[in-house]
Amino acid sequence: MSGSTLRFRLRGELTSLGEGLAGLYDRSTSKDPGVRTLTAAIIKRVRREGDAALYDLALELDGVRLESLEVAPVLIRRALARLSPALRAAMERSAANIAAAHRAFSPRPAQVETEPGVIVGRRADPLGAVGVYAPGGRAAYPSSVLMGAVPARVAGVRTVILCSPPGHDGLPAPAVLAAAALAKVDRVFALGGAGAIAAMAFGTRTVPSVNRIVGPGNSYVAEAKLQVVGNVGIDSPAGPSELLVIADDSADAATVAREALAQAEHDPLAAVVVVTIGEAMAREVERELCSRIGSQSRAAIIAQSLESRGALLWCESLAEAIAFSNRYAPEHLLLAVRDPESALDDVRNAGSVFLGCRSSVAFGDYMTGANHVLPTGGAARAYSGLSTLDFMRWTTYQRVAPDAAARLARDTAVFAQAEGLTGHAEAAEGQGGKAESREQRAGTTRSSARRIGARRFEGMEAYDPRREPCAVDLSDNTNLWGAPPAAARALRDFAESEITRYPAVYAGRLKEALAEYAGVRREEIVTGCGSDDVLDSALRALAEPGESVAVAEPTFAMASIFARMNGLEVRSVRLTGSLGLDADALLATGARIIYICSPNNPTGNAFARESIERVIRAAPGVVILDEAYAEFMGEGFLRAAPSYENLLVVRTLSKAFGLAGARVGYAAGSAALVSAVEKSRGPYKVSASAERAALAVLRDDRDWIAGRIDEVRANRDRFVAALERLGLAPLASDANFVLVPVRDAAALSLRLRRHDGSGVAVRPFVALPGIGDAVRITIGPWRMMEAALSSLEEAIRCV
Ligand code: PMP
Repeated sequence: MSGSTLRFRLRGELTSLGEGLAGLYDRSTSKDPGVRTLTAAIIKRVRREGDAALYDLALELDGVRLESLEVAPVLIRRALARLSPALRAAMERSAANIAAAHRAFSPRPAQVETEPGVIVGRRADPLGAVGVYAPGGRAAYPSSVLMGAVPARVAGVRTVILCSPPGHDGLPAPAVLAAAALAKVDRVFALGGAGAIAAMAFGTRTVPSVNRIVGPGNSYVAEAKLQVVGNVGIDSPAGPSELLVIADDSADAATVAREALAQAEHDPLAAVVVVTIGEAMAREVERELCSRIGSQSRAAIIAQSLESRGALLWCESLAEAIAFSNRYAPEHLLLAVRDPESALDDVRNAGSVFLGCRSSVAFGDYMTGANHVLPTGGAARAYSGLSTLDFMRWTTYQRVAPDAAARLARDTAVFAQAEGLTGHAEAAEGQGGKAESREQRAGTTRSSARRIGARRFEGMEAYDPRREPCAVDLSDNTNLWGAPPAAARALRDFAESEITRYPAVYAGRLKEALAEYAGVRREEIVTGCGSDDVLDSALRALAEPGESVAVAEPTFAMASIFARMNGLEVRSVRLTGSLGLDADALLATGARIIYICSPNNPTGNAFARESIERVIRAAPGVVILDEAYAEFMGEGFLRAAPSYENLLVVRTLSKAFGLAGARVGYAAGSAALVSAVEKSRGPYKVSASAERAALAVLRDDRDWIAGRIDEVRANRDRFVAALERLGLAPLASDANFVLVPVRDAAALSLRLRRHDGSGVAVRPFVALPGIGDAVRITIGPWRMMEAALSSLEEAIRCV
């Protein structure tokens, strides 16, 4: 062993330590009764005397005569302006990452129909006001200001205030003020200790009361938070920081030692434990620790911390080490092992887990965007780190339809009687006889429980692909070469009468042009506002509510959504193992409508012509064949559609034709089928501008489009080959996109996009049947594909 020697509270083989481990598990700190009494007295003073007590406390405890409790906004802005550019850039990056992570993890509303007519939902509402406490003096941590205030802002809290103790100039530390400005804190008060907590809990003339107080502080702050709880919410109490490292023989001992030293330098009571698989690694880590401690600026604190709470342990297997960790429940857990992701599966009770030696805890403290306010002292057995949920609360709501009330009444009454609550039983039974009255059915009574919309929409959420602006957007399968030139010209030269007057009722000229393009007759074409609209009306036109639609999953999700919107039942069938069409399974559903998408979104492959044909011929009802991407494949069923009496082929100008914004879709089929679809819709579904653009594209942009299709095909082959070189396995595609199976689609797409939208947007799919997670990437000009490749190369290393 080189350099100095080190003492640990515990050192040895895990299994042989037995009872000795108990001291590590129990990290509760003993309470000082003096702190409790003094804190209670301060809180009482602030409640009784308000602002006057706060001025006095600043003089008595901080030694400053404050001119004002509140820090003037101009001083907060000045602190930000004076921040060094390097620190400001780091803080801005930290704040942006915190915002991105917390936005992604925000609670989502949910609603369920637990039984027919019984709706239960919940919605997260932001708290009205939140107080963030930031310690001052030598221990001023602007990072904690960001960790508290940015998530509060993301959660939508209306008022966010900050209290931090004054220095000799009567102001909180400049870096704390600058962080408050960056996090858009509304008001800052130069207040510290128990007095600040009391002021935020009960309010004074100057300091508003808040609904929840978060942020670390000294023992008086922690005690004050415990004493005001009940009047306000608080976060879990923050104790000395902790790190548990599990290292196997793949770990770099020097890195493990650096991480341990970094955590131990926080506090003489910081708890740092290293558990290695095998004694040899423990000895290596020990050697590294000993050789480094001498050069540490806070060597004395580190030595104290290791002696009072540190441990160097070894064991035989990863499973033993993780079992120890689950019992120890560390604030930070660093998995310096060969396969940290699979180890993570077995981890329970850790505040935040760092995967692999490169994922330094310091990154998590400042930059990754995860919250660094985490449960300590074993509290991770029951608590989680700070999150947007700390700044929100759930409102649940429930609605019972009249016929459902009749069905629930008896069981409710039985239950209530058993608890001796006869009033409850009567309230329920009173609803029992009241199945809908005639007036209610006719909708003529006014009741607060009145149903607002059709019941089938109650469990549904409005469709939201969660698209946000991004530098290179490869997420929506549109034509990425810019507007088709003739269509763009036509839109520029739009005549005034086309703006002020109604367009053609059923877009007659467009139907003619499309019929010519498709090689069918005019009456065999129906148009709409995008093919979405055509699909929606076709489902409505071709089945009665209550009938069913069969879909081959995974496929275009809107097909099932439109089916449900039209009161149709969805029967899902899986694609075959090789992602082909399972004609037998589709036919066996006996569904009134069979929906097939070819080339299929999101898998990208076209189905064999024979199996599609078999389904059309044997289907008991109608087949809707969605050929939104057919131009990239070659011949589809468009021209042949009218020759089958039960086939509707749906197409769009949104993809190959580059007009997604104009919203033009159409379908071809027998005249009888098409007229049924036309009747199910209202007039004017294609706007004058959309019709104009579509006519121009079909007349004058055909060569331009053909050139782009050739480019898509060439770039697709080149892109697929490059993905394969990166070790990915994209699925074979006949469309203008490829689907790439990945381990964690959500994490990968967030990373590709980058927190500020400067990266590449792709479409994530989670747990696709038969495929698992995957990202869908649109093929565009090669420079975009190059951007995607370089971002992917970087991101797959991390995700
Ligand atoms: N069908 C499929 C298979 C699609 O992928 C899409 C859009 N992504 C549509 C239809 C709808 O397109 P639009 O409404 O723009 O025509």
